[in-house]
Amino acid sequence: MSPDIYTGRYAPSPTGPLHFGSLVAAVASYLDARIHQGRWLVRMEDLDKPREMPGAADDILRTLEAYGFEWDGEVMYQSQRHEAYEATLAQLIANGQVYSCNCSRREVADIAHAGIEGPVYPGLCRDGLSRERDTVAWRFKTDAAHLLFRDRIQGQFDHRMQRDIGDFVLKRADGKFAYQLAVVVDDAEQNISHVVRGADLLNSTSRQILLQYSLQLPSPVYAHIPVATNLAGEKLSKQTGAEALSTDNKAQMLSRAFVFLGLNPPSELCHSSVDILWQWANEHWQLEKVPSQTQLISD
Ligand code: GLU
Repeated sequence: MSPDIYTGRYAPSPTGPLHFGSLVAAVASYLDARIHQGRWLVRMEDLDKPREMPGAADDILRTLEAYGFEWDGEVMYQSQRHEAYEATLAQLIANGQVYSCNCSRREVADIAHAGIEGPVYPGLCRDGLSRERDTVAWRFKTDAAHLLFRDRIQGQFDHRMQRDIGDFVLKRADGKFAYQLAVVVDDAEQNISHVVRGADLLNSTSRQILLQYSLQLPSPVYAHIPVATNLAGEKLSKQTGAEALSTDNKAQMLSRAFVFLGLNPPSELCHSSVDILWQWANEHWQLEKVPSQTQLISD
């Protein structure tokens, strides 16, 4: 696949059925790919079995279909990609860019300072394991002081990598690969040129760009849309009681998603078919209209 074809993706975690917040992310990535005559791929981020809800992956795909989304190619499942992640980790080990760490979570919490997303590990195991323990995690050596990137919606960022992020885990002691590694390997495998996703992942973006750089992979262009929250400012999710999307009011929910993303669909479209709504949105989608906030109340 030529890398100069716009290739976007939607990468849900099957922890529960789709809700309004996940619909918004799917709509934004889909419309942006479509207006660029691009491809739009779906990837199931099912790395964490215990957090998964049985049947959710199929349910998500059926709901996307009912809402009129058409993805290109086969759905990729992260649960089937362990060999690829293992090979990438082996490459990073061979290059000396990762090291094993057997500090417990408790020990890390005791010695770390707070970063932008959890504790910043001070590199205790960089020069060799410090404790007797059978299982090890693998950490990436974060040697960059700063990482600058530009987001198509949220603007310019300068993340202080050593100070605010530190050496992050790529494979946990329980053998699970971390999201940061899997997403970089899969975005590269699928030739993703443009990522459109929720702004809750803005802080992850610099780690992903750093990994891409280390692995000599191209970096996609990023656009982070506001996260849909409830009135209390909490991200809509299964945990915060977000309602599962119904297929009985598709046109209404799609119109609401368009409004959330800065479009202004005529009110009568709420009563039309999803095909007509998609046609209207294809003619009107402009990423520049998406509010440049990191979160927005959804009702
Ligand atoms: N699986 C993540 C989620 O459902 C999205 C990851 C990504 O788009 O990079 O929030």
